[in-house]
Amino acid sequence: MPHDLPKAYDPTDLEDHWAEYWVRENLFAQPTPAADDPAAGAPYTILLPPPNVTGRLHMGHMLNQTEMDILTRWRRMSGRRALWLPGTDHAGIATQMMVERQLVSEGTTRQALGREAFVERVWDWRRHYGGAILDQMKRLGASVDWQREYFTMDDNLSVAVREAFVRLHEQGLIYRGAYIVNWCPRCQTAISDLEVVYDEHRGHLWEIRYSVLDPDGRDSGEYITVATTRPETMLGDVAVAIHPEDPRYLHLHGKKFRLPLMGREIPIVLDEWVSPEFGTGAVKVTPAHDPNDFALGERHHLPSINVMDPTGHINDQGGPYAGLDRYAARKKIIQDLEEQGLLAGVKDHTNNIGHCDRCKTVVEPRLSTQWFVKIQPLADKAIAAVKPDERGNKAIRFTPEQYEKTYLNWMENIHDWCISRQLWWGHRIPAWHCEACHKITVARVDPIVCAHCGSAQITQETDVLDTWFSSGLLPVSVFGWPHITADNRADFDAFYPTSLLVTGFDILFFWVARMIMLGCWFAQDVPEADGSPRTLARSVPFKEVYIHALVRDANREKMSKTKGNVVDPIEIVKTYGTDAVRFTLASMASPGTDIAFNVARTEGYRAFANKIWNAARFLFMNVDRAAELGITVDPAALGSMPAAAEDAPLESRWIVAELHATAARVNQALENYRYDDAANIIYQFFWGSFCDWYLEIVKLRLNFDDLAKKAESAAALTTLVQVFEVSLRLLSPFMPFLTEELWHALYDGNPPAKSIALTQYPLGTATPDQALAEMALVQDLIGEVRALRKEIGAEEKAVTPIEVRINEQFRPFVQRNTAIIERLARVDEIRYVADLTAGLAKHSAATFDVAVLYERTIDVPAERARLTKDIEKFEKGLAAAARQLGNEGFLAKAPAQVVEGLKKQEAETRLLLEKAQAALSALPPS
Ligand SMILES: [Zn+2]
Ligand SMILES: [Zn+2]
Repeated sequence: MPHDLPKAYDPTDLEDHWAEYWVRENLFAQPTPAADDPAAGAPYTILLPPPNVTGRLHMGHMLNQTEMDILTRWRRMSGRRALWLPGTDHAGIATQMMVERQLVSEGTTRQALGREAFVERVWDWRRHYGGAILDQMKRLGASVDWQREYFTMDDNLSVAVREAFVRLHEQGLIYRGAYIVNWCPRCQTAISDLEVVYDEHRGHLWEIRYSVLDPDGRDSGEYITVATTRPETMLGDVAVAIHPEDPRYLHLHGKKFRLPLMGREIPIVLDEWVSPEFGTGAVKVTPAHDPNDFALGERHHLPSINVMDPTGHINDQGGPYAGLDRYAARKKIIQDLEEQGLLAGVKDHTNNIGHCDRCKTVVEPRLSTQWFVKIQPLADKAIAAVKPDERGNKAIRFTPEQYEKTYLNWMENIHDWCISRQLWWGHRIPAWHCEACHKITVARVDPIVCAHCGSAQITQETDVLDTWFSSGLLPVSVFGWPHITADNRADFDAFYPTSLLVTGFDILFFWVARMIMLGCWFAQDVPEADGSPRTLARSVPFKEVYIHALVRDANREKMSKTKGNVVDPIEIVKTYGTDAVRFTLASMASPGTDIAFNVARTEGYRAFANKIWNAARFLFMNVDRAAELGITVDPAALGSMPAAAEDAPLESRWIVAELHATAARVNQALENYRYDDAANIIYQFFWGSFCDWYLEIVKLRLNFDDLAKKAESAAALTTLVQVFEVSLRLLSPFMPFLTEELWHALYDGNPPAKSIALTQYPLGTATPDQALAEMALVQDLIGEVRALRKEIGAEEKAVTPIEVRINEQFRPFVQRNTAIIERLARVDEIRYVADLTAGLAKHSAATFDVAVLYERTIDVPAERARLTKDIEKFEKGLAAAARQLGNEGFLAKAPAQVVEGLKKQEAETRLLLEKAQAALSALPPS
């Protein structure tokens, strides 16, 4: 029986192999269930937050996917009908930009290409490159159902988008109107508030004098001063506003002003929104270019004058400035104002400027006609889904809980949702404008004539829908909505609502909130399979939301391209293997705690994988050795939790009890999203209990060639293999590759399933077991003897007697396990005494005192030579450290943890030096 395992653990080939196998064999496919299949288990559904087709995997994805994969694998192994559903998002603005950049490099533009050809071009791009991020996921072993992979522009999903739009329109929940939007002059589209990033910017505040007019329309010689950070918007001013009780301006009530440069007369308006404390207390009102001014304009029925075109140039409403770019116009306007003596002052001013999240162009608040979703009653339903009902139940539960408040806060102050984008790539709005009657026809099927007047002169709306409108529908649309019919509803019935959404805080409002609104709204109209109406709890898109933390760098700094501290997960995976990276993330992941990603930790977990590899080699070597002597482990003994016979040796009873306790604790931790606890519990079990203790002890029992001990050896070997097999299953969701490899090797070509991922997750019962207490005492005793040996400088090889003073009731614990203690603590005799011999160094524990009998023989000249050499080495080390720590240039550049490490090392070397010097002076003269 060969159990061929290469000598060294090398994750690269092994992981490539299994990743490819899992996809090829479709191991994680979750087919549409037959109705009422009781054997299928309760569903456990997770929708992958679809990455943009333009995306590349970053550390945030890696964490998010590790968490989802651990949970899905764990639930699948626990008997649930687990479905993790992958897909990609067409990402309107990002993808359009990507292809536009390509066109520019080819010397053309999308406008030159025309809409149809451009959209075809984007599809081309998507066919060639759009799968890159999912290929990365495949390599990382994500246990998703690849047969269900979707793309948000797929035909069936596009049907859902169209149905949702038409239905909301029919319900009076979609309207078209003029509104101030965040406009990106580069992308030439409206963008949502959430897509605007604000940067602090040092600019100016210009103070401009507006002439007060006499009742007959002539300049009175008096001025009112207004201040602005965007002087070019004054071209669209329609009023000056003041607070009604501002004593400085009481005499101006009812007056008019002359708008400089444009010559227009504009009125004064009184509004309590104006703060007398801010600036001069008088503000210019530009409803078409500022959201506050827009609201003020609505209150006072003022006109709106839009002075900018979609590219950020002044339009023909801008008089002499028409045609100028917004910043060129600004310059010219300031110059002109100065020449006319109307510039009262310029002040330095720091303000927050909004940039387009995609292209970083400064966003222009601008009035434009857009499509909106009337947010009520959608929002109320989405609030009810998260708030506890009268019995205290929540249809959707947030982890960490704090996000429930964040969500509700935002939802309670939500505005109507602008869903139109002036892009070409996306779901085109299914609305047609009539040239004859100017009404709009919204339809499920492309109309030929106007629904109002019958004219054939109709053209489709050019806007497309906000990408989040389609991704907000995913939880219903991926399971077949809107066509949920009697013979086409098995998926919807089985998998909706989904169980869990794992996502980042950054898209809580963008996506999570919108899925809740749209999911609750549309699913409520889908009756249950038995025809009964669907409750709110059954309409929600997911029952739980887990908001994962941020992955930061080792210094807890946010990763950013500008700082250059971005860790590329694919690079780390190449060096240490996927399993080690996954384990690193899991070992630090708990609700609400950011992760400081440190490669040193990953190196540690690669060593962990290596330790398990070596344990497997040791085990296989013994299995093979035993087999040669006719001792085999019955495969039927594997696959369930082992039990140890009452008369089995301590280490067998103990490791089995430990295994049970570990499994119970791991299940409990995963139930609470404590990936960190789960990972650390398994780590301690595998490394500490299994490798460091159990394997060392079990070596005592594996005496296959001793015929008298054949039964004992066989029993020990069986327990060893059983425990190892369960441990692999326990670890599998965390390190799927390593465990798959070793599990297949363990079954030596005849595994009971196609994958360890399709076996059962160990369930343990943590019961108090006498073996745990007995082993704890034995471990304590061995630990104290080892510590004592170190203290008194016993040579590594030396085997010594010990003296033990121990309570009578615990004495059998030691006596029964003499062989273990002798082997692991290098003891050749245990002397039970009433009192330890005076003068011996001793250690005390709660139930015993122990001393090691060891007399050191020293070769004085050799020892002097050794110590002298050590001292030289330490002094050199200290000098080198002093040089580095004294180097300003080095200190300025080195990361904090490197400097810390160096300082720690220096302190340790100093300590060793002092010890060596003391030992040298304590040597007797030779
Ligand atoms: Zn932009
Ligand atoms: Zn018409």
